Amino acid sequence: MTQVRTRFAPSPTGFIHLGNIRSALYPWAYARATKGVFVLRIEDTDVERSSLEAVDVIVEGMRWLGLDHDEGPFYQMQRMDRYKEVLAQMQAQGLVYPCYMSTAELDALRERQMAAKEKPRYDGTWRPEEGKLLPPVPEGVRPVLRFRTPQGGSVVWDDKVKGRIEISNDELDDLVVARPDGTPTYNFCVVVDDIDMQITHVIRGDDHVNNTPRQIHVFRALGHEPPVYAHLPTVLNEQGEKMSKRHGAKPVTQYRDEGYLADAVVNYLARLGWSHGDDEIFSREQLVEWFDLDHLGRSAGQFDEAKLRWVNAQH
Ligand code: GLU
Repeated sequence: MTQVRTRFAPSPTGFIHLGNIRSALYPWAYARATKGVFVLRIEDTDVERSSLEAVDVIVEGMRWLGLDHDEGPFYQMQRMDRYKEVLAQMQAQGLVYPCYMSTAELDALRERQMAAKEKPRYDGTWRPEEGKLLPPVPEGVRPVLRFRTPQGGSVVWDDKVKGRIEISNDELDDLVVARPDGTPTYNFCVVVDDIDMQITHVIRGDDHVNNTPRQIHVFRALGHEPPVYAHLPTVLNEQGEKMSKRHGAKPVTQYRDEGYLADAVVNYLARLGWSHGDDEIFSREQLVEWFDLDHLGRSAGQFDEAKLRWVNAQH
């Protein structure tokens, strides 16, 4: 069997709460349970919102909880040349194509489609096809690059949490993979990274489910089978809202400062979306021995500080 390789790929935008760090705990635990490799990748392409201080906050939270990584941290901003190299290869192979449609034209198209009660989507104006005449290239406009999404059929994957998911290709636009200034877009970078870092299992929040069919197409176009996916349901706060800074979530390290034990927080978070029979209290060693992807919960875990205090008292 090939060695399991997982990753945590946070965007360093300033804050990491217990819900976020659970997306580090599970891939870490799975890598440790299978004697695999856990990679840390910093997705810092949103330059305006990313900062090095935020990276430190993430690394500090992971260190406190003992979520040690084997490779990285890799920074996407340092991999730009690699992404551009892959884009150039894809363009040479006809897998991506330049699209000169301006934002105003795209907006007008969207409005027309909405008025006709159609789903707004790119209409393929610039997609080269055999025997098709493309519009004249407008002067002074720098194109985006779009990925030639397969037409007809569907994408299917067996999600370790959500079960079988099938998305019709007609639902998917020709994904923009590079902006007019040549910088690669998020969904594209993720795939190049997951290929280069030989990731076998992507365990991440379910806010990325919509990206997955697009990413799977790019994997296949690049000649790789996609990894196994496990999309974790959101963690809710005590009021039942999505846990977030805006809704009062505390940063991970605040629990350390309040005297919580790292092993207790790891135990609590592990149980908030995964189970091992009726076992409530377990050590880090037991977690590493038991953790698997077959007992991930399907419903959103709800944070409960009283429960965390109780778990803490048992350690
Ligand atoms: N950077 C993404 C986030 O912070 C994670 C992307 C991924 O795991 O594929 O939500």
